[in-house]
Amino acid sequence: MRLIFLGPPGAGKGTHAQLLAEKLNLFRISTGDILRRNVKEETAMGCEAKEYMEKGALVPDEMVIQMTVNEIARAEANRGFIMDGFPRTLSQAQHLNEALAKLDSRIDLVINFETSEATIIERLSGRMICRSCGANYHLKNLPPRRAGVCDKCGGRLFHREDDEPETIKERLKVYEKIATGIINFYEEKGILETISGDFGLEGGCEALMGVLSKRGFI
Ligand code: AMP
Repeated sequence: MRLIFLGPPGAGKGTHAQLLAEKLNLFRISTGDILRRNVKEETAMGCEAKEYMEKGALVPDEMVIQMTVNEIARAEANRGFIMDGFPRTLSQAQHLNEALAKLDSRIDLVINFETSEATIIERLSGRMICRSCGANYHLKNLPPRRAGVCDKCGGRLFHREDDEPETIKERLKVYEKIATGIINFYEEKGILETISGDFGLEGGCEALMGVLSKRGFI
């Protein structure tokens, strides 16, 4: 099964992608995680991406597309994948289609997490992420057992710099500008399902399993 999770930052894509990938044994491809790893390791790509990420802007297509195509080649060897944070432009969506077609593959379903601004701000301002394994937490909604420490691997948790209010606003503006084009692209292919991103963890899982079941994937 090859899935894409679409939605604004803070829609819950990362958390649900993580949970569903574990449950269905799928490969999770998060372009944001890959980029952050490169920034941390100070690779050439990381150094170039950093200035865009700090401002809440998109990293140039050429860089992200190549990086994602490499990941797909790895994911295709597995049972399928969930893509979270990609595509973010129409050009990325088109390149993704072409890359998959070359592998005789295609996206099965795109889930669009429609989310209110109040939810987004509340989620992002409390979000904490593990520096080692990338697991997501929330100070109020999904706290780790020990403050500041990852339940899964014992890594240190941090608050993303781009989750500060000013950068959140910029990221939302960027998302709104290009979201409709991408949503229409997948809607026209008949593979788009929209669920509410405002649900809590349990409600969100239920909605997600509902659409996967309706489409005959589980
Ligand atoms: P995320 O963790 O998905 O919120 O991504 C964090 C940041 O990484 C974004 O604000 C962008 O600067 C960059 N980024 C992640 N995915 C992409 C993408 N598909 N295209 C361009 N920039 C991206």
